[in-house]
Amino acid sequence: MIIVLHKNIQGSDLTDILRQLEEWGLEAYIAQFEHRSIISIANKVHSDFDIRKIALLKGVVDVYRVDEPYKLASRTWKKNSTCFEVKGVTVGAEELNIIAGPCSIESEEHIFEMAALISKEGVKFIRGGAFKPRTSPYSFQGLGIEGLKMIRKAADTYDLRVVTEIMDASQIDDVCLYADIVQVGTRNMQNFYLLKQLGKINKPVLLKRGMSAQITEWLMAAEYILSGGNEKVILCERGIRTFDHTGRNTLDVSAIPIVHELSHLPIFADPSHGTGNRNRVIPMSLASVAAGADGLMIEVHSCPEKALSDGPQALYPEQFMALMTQLRALTSVLQNKHVREPQKNTIWV
Ligand code: PEP
Ligand code: MN
Repeated sequence: MIIVLHKNIQGSDLTDILRQLEEWGLEAYIAQFEHRSIISIANKVHSDFDIRKIALLKGVVDVYRVDEPYKLASRTWKKNSTCFEVKGVTVGAEELNIIAGPCSIESEEHIFEMAALISKEGVKFIRGGAFKPRTSPYSFQGLGIEGLKMIRKAADTYDLRVVTEIMDASQIDDVCLYADIVQVGTRNMQNFYLLKQLGKINKPVLLKRGMSAQITEWLMAAEYILSGGNEKVILCERGIRTFDHTGRNTLDVSAIPIVHELSHLPIFADPSHGTGNRNRVIPMSLASVAAGADGLMIEVHSCPEKALSDGPQALYPEQFMALMTQLRALTSVLQNKHVREPQKNTIWV
């Protein structure tokens, strides 16, 4: 159950509500958002219980019966899809949001080159990892804070918003200083301590699906962030492990309409990690958008052969431009999304 409270509820009314809920045997958790407060009732509410009793309490605006284990993430109570602005660009609305860039921030020169390339295509979000979760401890681990400074500088030069991964709660201050969207990778989807801490920040969180996570588990992970008070969560399907090892991962395109049914949160797709092979990125991007994705995360590199991580799945610049052209064509027939036009006169050199 979800109980929406008056925006400016008085402390004494809140105390009365909590006392009353406890008397009824209801386990209440308060989530304080920027513009409202909400109580989630964690335990199952008996079908005989008349929820109108709650609606009548002073300070209560609305009550919803939500039977799913995830409450705040559920569409049962919030019918309208969540959308929010990131430095003037709306996420989760009519624009198909494209996040593009290399897997890792490699050097200042390279990230500037990538920023120039993607911004020319009308892209507004740049990606690049500074803290890299690598399978081998001997692989490139990322440039750390120096890398964050580089991507921030490039983003500011080209009017881009930064999306970068956080691996540990100890990095929150540094990552939040430089990022506009904080990415939680597949390996950390169930790092509940980290998720709780990200509930307290005032930056959107892009939450990738765990590589073996069921959709319910993924929505429960989102619930951790939401229940901490952060309403700005983007889900990102990035491929799961299945019995088939032909590709790196299996991009679960069906998760996109399922998430739209179950949740109001925006859902993006990452066909780069979802396939692990650049030749499959364009078809799976188109499939994801046709399936209703609100955005795409795409790895692109000026010279993938020399990439410090994930080279085989990085698009060549020409492929990236071809993808953008095809996305514009596709969204024009789908009609519920649009893609920005390329920048005709690039003001930067
Ligand atoms: C990435 O985006 O570079 C990344 C490591 O993603 P994932 O967590 O999906 O593997
Ligand atoms: Mn990568």
